Order: sequence, then C-alpha cells, then structure tokens
Amino acid sequence: MEERGKTPEDVSALQRQIEQLTQKLSEAEATIDDLNKKSQGSARAASEVEEIAPISELDSTLRRLVQRIAMILQADKVLMMFYDREAGELMGIPPAFGIDEDILGMVRMRATQGVSGEVFREGRPTIFHDAVEDERTVGDPFAILHVQNGVTVPLVIEKRDEENRVIDRTTIGVLHAFNKRHGEDFNDEDVRLLERMAKSAASIISNLRLYQEIVEEKEELLHTLESLSAGIVLVNTDRRVMQMNASARTIFNVGMEAIGSELISIVKDQSVSDLIGSGLEGRDSEPIEIALTTDGRQERVFQVQTAQVKSEEGRLIGAVGIFNDVTELKNIERMKSAFVATVSHELRTPLTAIKGFISTLLMDDTFPEEDRREFYTIIDHECDRLTRLINDLLNIARIEAGESLKPTYEAVDLIQLARKVVLIQRQGTAKHEIVLEAPESMPEIIGDSDKIDQILTNLVGNAVKYSPGGGKVTVKIEVKDPDVIISISDQGIGIPKDHLPKVFERFHRVHTEDNRKIYGTGLGLFLVKHLVEQIHLGKVWAESELGEGSTFFVQLPLKLDVAKAEDMNK
Ligand code: ADP
Repeated sequence: MEERGKTPEDVSALQRQIEQLTQKLSEAEATIDDLNKKSQGSARAASEVEEIAPISELDSTLRRLVQRIAMILQADKVLMMFYDREAGELMGIPPAFGIDEDILGMVRMRATQGVSGEVFREGRPTIFHDAVEDERTVGDPFAILHVQNGVTVPLVIEKRDEENRVIDRTTIGVLHAFNKRHGEDFNDEDVRLLERMAKSAASIISNLRLYQEIVEEKEELLHTLESLSAGIVLVNTDRRVMQMNASARTIFNVGMEAIGSELISIVKDQSVSDLIGSGLEGRDSEPIEIALTTDGRQERVFQVQTAQVKSEEGRLIGAVGIFNDVTELKNIERMKSAFVATVSHELRTPLTAIKGFISTLLMDDTFPEEDRREFYTIIDHECDRLTRLINDLLNIARIEAGESLKPTYEAVDLIQLARKVVLIQRQGTAKHEIVLEAPESMPEIIGDSDKIDQILTNLVGNAVKYSPGGGKVTVKIEVKDPDVIISISDQGIGIPKDHLPKVFERFHRVHTEDNRKIYGTGLGLFLVKHLVEQIHLGKVWAESELGEGSTFFVQLPLKLDVAKAEDMNK
C-alpha cells in the first residue's frame, strides 16, 4: 500500500471514485434483483410452469421451452439463432433440440442470406417444404443439420408501456422448427404456435443476456473495490455488512464471512459503527480521524468518511464507510512541525552567538587583540554553521523538486580529502580523539570532491555530536576492488535497532533521553544518502549497538561510471 505522499486532494478524489463505485454496485445489485423478479414473470408465461423460476433457472426454463416446442410442433429439431451484431451473422445458440452441441457451434451464417436471414430481416414467419429444392435456403446451414422441411419465425423482443402498448420491437434472431414427424408438413397452425412461443423464448434470452452483462459488470466493480487501497465497508439499512473489501477486512481483522454479518459484530469499535450508522440516518459525515489497532498490535490512524448510497430512484439502500490510512501522512505532518521547531532553533543559536559577540565588540573596543581574535573566530564559525544549514535546506528543496545537485566529476585524492576533513573536525572538539586509518596510498577515484567532503564532514560531525561524552572517532579507508569503503566509527550513544534503517529518511531523528539535548534537523543523513547513492552510485548504511557507539559505512566505486552518473543527474 503506497500511501506516502498522498495529498488531501488525492484522498478526496479517491473518495468520490469510491462513492461512485459503490453507487454503481448497488445499482447493479438492484437490477439483478429486478431481473430475478421479472424472470419469474416471464418464466411463468413461457411454459405455464407452476413453480416460480429465479434467474439462475432461466436456463433450464428455456431448455424446457425448446423441448415443448418440439413436442407441440412434432418437430425433430428445434434451433434458435442469435444475431451477432459485430460479425453481422446469425449463429446457433444453446439450448437446441435434436442437434448436437458440437454441431451447434458450427452453425453460423451471414444475416443477409437464406431463409433465416430473410425472416430475421423482414420480421415475418415462413414455411419451407423442401429444404434441398427451395432456392431461398441458399446460405442456410441446413445441409449440416439434415433439414428437410421447417418453419421459421423471428425472435422479437417487445417493449411495452404501462398500458401494455408495444413501444419498441427488436428482432434478436430467429427460431426454427425442422423436420415434421411422421412424414408430414408444417402448416399455418404451426406458424402461429411457434410465433407465440418465440415471444417467451426471446424475452428469456434477452433477460439472460442482460443478466450476464450485469453480473460481469458487478464482478468488475467488485474487483475494482477489492483492489482499492482504502478500506470500504458497505452496509444495508439493517446495518448488515453488504460488502467489505480486502483492505477493510485487514483493518478489522476479519475474513469473507464478515459479509452478511451485523456491522457491530465486525466493527467492534462502537464509534466507528455509530459513524457508519449515522450515514444511514441521512447525515453524510465530515471526514473524521480515528485511531484503530489493526493487526492486534499496531495502531494506525484512519480518516473515515461515510456517505449514503441511494438507488437511481433516490431510495436509500445503505451507507458506505471509507477508511483511508493516513498514518504516514500524520507522521510526516508531525515530523514537519518538529522540523520547523528544530530549524528555528538551529537558526537562532548561531545568530544569538554572532549578535552577542558583535554587540560586545561594538560596545567595548578595549579588548586585547587575543580576545578579539577569539570572538571573530567564533563569529566566523557560527557564520559557517548558518551557511551549512541554509545550504542543506536549499539542497533538500532541490532534491524534493526532483532537481539534480549538479555534480562536477573529477579525479579525487580521497586520502588527502579525508585528512583535511579530520583536521578541521579536530578543531571543533577537545573531548574527542579523531584518527584516520588509511593505506599509504591509493589510486585517485572519480567523484565530486566538494560533495565527498560534505559526506565525510557530515558523518564525522555526527560521530562527534552523538558522542557527547567524548571518545575515539575513527575514519577508516579500505580499498576493496572495485570499491573503496570508508567507515566512520564512534563510541557514542548509539542508535536503537528499529531506527537504523530510518535515520537516512528526511527529518528522521531518534528521540531518546540521550538524544534529546542534541540538536539537529534530521536532514544531514538524508543528504548523505543522496550524495552517495544518486551522485556517486554508491551505498551507505549504518551499524550500531545502543550505548556502545555507531559505525557508518560509505561504499564508493573506485572507477565511477561517469556517463551513467551524469545521465542519472541530468
Ligand atoms: P541531525 O543530526 O541533524 O538530527 P541526521 O540526518 O544527521 O540529522 O541524523 C539523523 C538522526 O540519526 C539523528 O537525529 C540521530 O538520532 C541519529 N544519528 C546520526 N548519526 C549518529 C551517530 N553517529 N550516533 C548516534 N546517532 C546518530
């Protein structure tokens, strides 16, 4: 579930989409209900059968109807042909009587030909007495069916208004009865009988087709709902769960059996149940935030919104509850406010120092040269600190905007660079022993020297900063062809295991008792990661033992593939 970075606009667009989907789903269900009811009517009309047939039995009703036609007309074979609009063809459809299913599949013909085509186009029934001799049968698939004589009527669906007047007629195909038994011929009475039964057959076929289409549409909608990352709970007016997608089942830790159960037994949280219930009472709620413990342990924050679901005629069918997991969003929000607080602090501290020393110097120009030099050095350092912070912020903004930090690749003497960083860092602390362990010499690597400087400065700076009690900081360079591995170890406060992979995320800071007094923005390692991975196609990771110290590793290729790196940083 990729929820990170989802904006409120995305969320509300998603919500609209879900509302539309559930609306459509309910409509599909209502139509299926409707069809079921109608089918009971047409099934009765079709065969005057006593029992009421639901839609699932329409198939067998149709089969019985076809048998009845054969019986009443004393025909050896009965065939229905359906017009396939796309192909422009009439094709045999099941059920048939006296015709093999395999052969049925081969019965296809142009709708412009033969007796079948004529009856279909003109909508008038016909009798033919000798299929072989009759010229009208050219193009009919009668040879393969061994047809001698027959009667053919159109399959017509009639739409009627409330006063039972026909308002629309659609011919969907033709109905044949072939080979009158006992060597007899079909007559006008047979035509009338067949026409009557064709009406029932047409209505059943069209209902079956419509039913199939809607069932398919429903499946598709269910599939879409199922795969949404938001949790969806659809309840009917009796507060029973009608639908619950995979995300919702995970949130409430239930399986498919939840569908059909009472809402309160599934959503144990009374406030959630009430919220969805309030949707039924006509109050579409404003989105609210609820914390739920999902898999028994983890608490996650959901933005929950409910909406009514109405049928096309505006009848209330139920309500839908939409659960959006906004945990990450909330975390980022929290981190951002913490970030604003720390940045303000980080800006104020050097500014206070600079202002303090300048005011002192302004007020009193009798300070000895030595003191003045010290003040100026502090001011100089604090200015550097401000510049670094502002550069970090600018760089983060660039990375976030997807812009490159524009590397300049050149040959870099890594050992000399590390020596310089160590020297500068030593000046900032008296409590730490910073040592460099490097081979006598190594080949120059390809990289952006300023940016490698920044990587090392950041990591050594952190090693000093996060070992407030002092100790040894070791910078080690090891050549492991085709890479060089730089490690920076300290004996400081260490990093809790569960934070290790996260310290490279922007704004991420560890909040423990030891960390509390050490200020920072949570940006340094995010930048380091970018500079190593994106700019130098390398790797960076950390190992640590809480209370024992940490080691940060940077792996850089000895021979950077400059073309590839430039391509990635265009
Ligand atoms: P900042 O130091 O400004 O908070 P960083 O991105 O440099 O930001 O570091 C992120 C977090 O990782 C720090 O807040 C700290 O909790 C932890 N961290 C980084 N380096 C070390 C280290 N050497 N020892 C212990 N914790 C560290």
